[in-house]
Amino acid sequence: MNLNLSYQDFCKFSNASIHRLKSNESNELIDEIVFDSRRVVFVKNVLFVALKGDFRDGHDFISDAYDKGIRMFLVSKEINLDQFPEGIFFICNHVLESLQSLASWNRKRTKTKVIAVAGSHGKTTVKEWLYHLLSPHYRVYRSPKSYNSQLGVPLSLLQLTDQYNYAIIEVGFSLPGEMKKMKKMILPDYGIVTSFSSTKISAFKNQEHYNNELLSLMFGVKNTIASSLLGISKEQINEISLVEIAPQSLKLQQLDSRWRNPVSIQNLSLAFGMAKIIGINKDDLLKRVSTIPSLAMRLETYDGINNSIIINDTYNLDMNALSSSLAYQKAISFKLRRIVVLALDSQMEENSEEIQKEVNAANPDIFIELNSEEEFNLDISNAVVLLKGNQNSFIKKIAQKIKKQTHSTVLEINFSAIRENLSFFRKKTAPNTKVLCMVKAQSYGSGLEKMALFLEAQGVSYLGVACVDEGVELRKSGVQIPILVLNMQQENFKPCIDYNLEPAIYSFVQLDRFIRELIDHKKTNFPIHLKFDTGMHRLGFNYKETSRVLEMIKSQPEVRIKGLFSHLADSGSTASEFTKKQINCFDKIKKMICENQSSPIISHLLNTDGILNYGKFQYDMVRLGIGMYGISSKEIKELKSVFSWKTIVSQVKKIEIGDYVGYSKGFQTNKPLKIAIIPVGYADGFRRILKNGQGGVYIKGNFCPTVGNICMDMAMVDIGQNKVEEGDLVEIIGENQTIAKLANSMQTIPYEILTGISKRVHRVYIED
Ligand SMILES: *Cc1c(COP(=O)(O)O)cnc(C)c1O
Repeated sequence: MNLNLSYQDFCKFSNASIHRLKSNESNELIDEIVFDSRRVVFVKNVLFVALKGDFRDGHDFISDAYDKGIRMFLVSKEINLDQFPEGIFFICNHVLESLQSLASWNRKRTKTKVIAVAGSHGKTTVKEWLYHLLSPHYRVYRSPKSYNSQLGVPLSLLQLTDQYNYAIIEVGFSLPGEMKKMKKMILPDYGIVTSFSSTKISAFKNQEHYNNELLSLMFGVKNTIASSLLGISKEQINEISLVEIAPQSLKLQQLDSRWRNPVSIQNLSLAFGMAKIIGINKDDLLKRVSTIPSLAMRLETYDGINNSIIINDTYNLDMNALSSSLAYQKAISFKLRRIVVLALDSQMEENSEEIQKEVNAANPDIFIELNSEEEFNLDISNAVVLLKGNQNSFIKKIAQKIKKQTHSTVLEINFSAIRENLSFFRKKTAPNTKVLCMVKAQSYGSGLEKMALFLEAQGVSYLGVACVDEGVELRKSGVQIPILVLNMQQENFKPCIDYNLEPAIYSFVQLDRFIRELIDHKKTNFPIHLKFDTGMHRLGFNYKETSRVLEMIKSQPEVRIKGLFSHLADSGSTASEFTKKQINCFDKIKKMICENQSSPIISHLLNTDGILNYGKFQYDMVRLGIGMYGISSKEIKELKSVFSWKTIVSQVKKIEIGDYVGYSKGFQTNKPLKIAIIPVGYADGFRRILKNGQGGVYIKGNFCPTVGNICMDMAMVDIGQNKVEEGDLVEIIGENQTIAKLANSMQTIPYEILTGISKRVHRVYIED
């Protein structure tokens, strides 16, 4: 802030009066306003406003602010002045209202054009993206995250100075009448309405009242835009232009998967539309769109190693965000040291002097700047470390490195390895063979949504799920490619139709019922995949039923055969007679169906092992599952392992001759033993069969067999003569213990291991 206000002017614009003034200080200026005594960094020319909130009253923190060196206060209560001999007090009726009228004054005096962003969802995203689009051309202020309230907005407006060409201000409301006050303060030059939700209207009579309150902010504001999808009528607001949500014109096709999500496209269309109104050339904007940041932009705070606290603020590095991060660091550091680690990229070099000044003013104990991937080996014990950067990957790596390992067990999924595996299988298939990726069972335990979006972004043609619910979940997260549902049950016909999922049809009863449902929905030509049983004897029509299936479908315009498939029972063994029979049978069926059908049909037969052992029979598509994770029945060295399952030693103890370990006296030792207790048990998927040395884990590269029974949430392992401490890393699956090895100990197959790692095990996705 740079208010530059004399006491007299301050009183005039905020409707306050001077409560006590020490005559010799009457020429001090008020430049800055703070309201949280914990966040006080600077004290000179700073005024503390004693706001009343739901849970605290700022008047209770005056002495704290005073102790930190603040001398000017805006209050609404009588204060015992003797307590603050050097204090200068301004008194008003209502502190927030005074602040609002001061903000209103500041807004009027600046030439900055203000863009107000209102709506129930998407405000922050639109604000950030618009900022990204405008910032190469103008100096732009944007309100800090969620500074959109009756307090946040005035605080933002107080930041405005003529140095900014534009200000993007997020505006929220919760009660009737609030928008009127906002409008008087903000005087928007431009407006963006992002969305109307029906879940946030509690204080309003109905949706219409809510919408009208929201729109009243923009009434008469020239250059207001909203999505044409919101159904705003011209009567509700004048001067509004409605933006068509048209991804084609944003050239989003070639970009990553987040643009497949309709909400993102809408937010981007709005930011884009506003930037165009402001006069930025469309080609410039299109170029800029490709660099729009993902909004994982929250300031993250977590425990670091050696009793440190890490503030990970690597989203953006503009001056505004920097000063608030520094203030936050100060606020939480108490007696801990403060370390600031700054990563400058070339874009920020020009501001580097300004940044250094700002950091030095906050007076941290250590301040280092990194320009490249130099090793970071600072002693961070007992410090609050602020990592500040501009989406630099190397500072993100530092952030990971100094993160304290928590006691929860994690399953790491390596996206880079999956990418390599996909490319291996891509090379095994002909260029025009489609690839369907199976993501059933939470994508073999790796996480349904994350994997699906990742695979879609890689460009696979199809996804396959076991049940309709999974398909619905994928559609809701924005997946747009076709989805095959292997096992559609009658109660899920409707969502299957509504969400455009393609069901596998395997019986006459099912087909008949599904057609009836389609008739009810007045649907025709709905795509289905016929599933034939060629020897597996699981779901599927028998090949003898082929002509009857064809008859039935011919007379029913409701469905169309889009795909035809079967599944191999023994694809893991090479040159198997049994498999050849299955393939022959499938060939026959395919021939019959294709002869009777004019439109093309996607035939598909092979799973992972099928691709590896019977690659000639790819037909039009393959169904890749476990191979993505680097697993197959053959050992293939090009395939990369994807999973590592890790935890941490909870405790280490010695046991003496004759001692028992675990439930039911499951183990008794005949020699002194050192054991580690690990927080993984059968409820995590570390099964009971692994008890008493039938399985184990690796600690620091050494195998440690289990002792006693496996408990629900814990297990005990023998650490031998190795030096093991609490907090040491434990590998359950990883470099030493492959999934195949663990599967062997559990007397099962990798599929069951992966899908049996319970939900409570944290999934963490990494790329290297
Ligand atoms: C699970 C499944 C696959 C994938 O099998 P993988 O062996 O994991 O590659 C393919 N087709 C069907 C019908 C499946 O159920």
